[in-house]
Amino acid sequence: MDDARDHDRPDLDPALLRAARTARRVAVLTGAGMSAESGVPTFREPGEGFWSRWSPEELATPEAWEDDPQLVWSWYLWRARQVRALAPHAGHRALAAWSRGARVEVVTQNVDDLHERAGSAVLAHLHGSLFAFRCAGCSAPYPAERVPGLAPGAAAPGGEPEREHPPACPACGGPVRPGVVWFGELLPEGALDRAAEAVAAAELVVVVGTSGLVQPAASLPLIAAGRGIPVVEIDPRDTALTPHADFTVRAGAARALPLLVPGAAAASC
Ligand code: NAD
Ligand code: ZN
Repeated sequence: MDDARDHDRPDLDPALLRAARTARRVAVLTGAGMSAESGVPTFREPGEGFWSRWSPEELATPEAWEDDPQLVWSWYLWRARQVRALAPHAGHRALAAWSRGARVEVVTQNVDDLHERAGSAVLAHLHGSLFAFRCAGCSAPYPAERVPGLAPGAAAPGGEPEREHPPACPACGGPVRPGVVWFGELLPEGALDRAAEAVAAAELVVVVGTSGLVQPAASLPLIAAGRGIPVVEIDPRDTALTPHADFTVRAGAARALPLLVPGAAAASC
């Protein structure tokens, strides 16, 4: 037994490991912390340079878009380019591996595509996607490949981007907007229902890297708790959801998920 490495591992409750090994249906709810170890900052970490002047609350609203579409477009484009240059980590890969032995339904608040690039099919992107652009006027989809700097493997953007104009919709000439859900907007049609059904039908619910402060996503684990379905929280810190969790793993997603997922730890070493 390797003492140093063992010391570095969070102790997983044997009852949790048993639940993970035997569950035929698992719902996984992920938030910004899931992507943190891939290099995508959560909103709770202080921003740097240019972008530290704005908070997400100031930019992720329909009012901000109305006031200054160029600023909002440039922020989302910068984030999309940043994500394109990053890669999924061992935790994303562990979830994809799990889905080969059980029905694992991933519901994410994240707007990145790291689950998909690791090989998971995402059941619901509750807050939309950085890569699902659409016209702000007629809602026609606008392909991400037509947006400059989003080719796979493109270099990460610097910290001081230029302002860029949103492209014009080929159908109606309206401005193209990010396909994310802004504060005060409705969730994508059917996304919350699909998520709630997955949670209600699961034998284990895994909550990873969400502070549990953004509704209605934060209410999903409560459906499980109300039905006696075990909930495990993976997060280095206590969150608003901690009181509703049957198990907590105080570690980052990249370390904890491979330990939880049957057979994944060996594969990811
Ligand atoms: P949040 O920023 O409110 O909370 C992040 C949580 O992740 C915290 O509880 C933190 O302790 C935890 N965390 C930090 N590092 C972690 C790690 N390595 N492993 C596991 N957990 C870790 O995030 P939220 O609850 O998702 O809500 C913020 C909103 O902002 C959501 O709408 C989210 O979609 C959006 N957002 C998305 C992204 C993304 O797509 N990657 C990034 C930032 C924010
Ligand atoms: Zn249009």
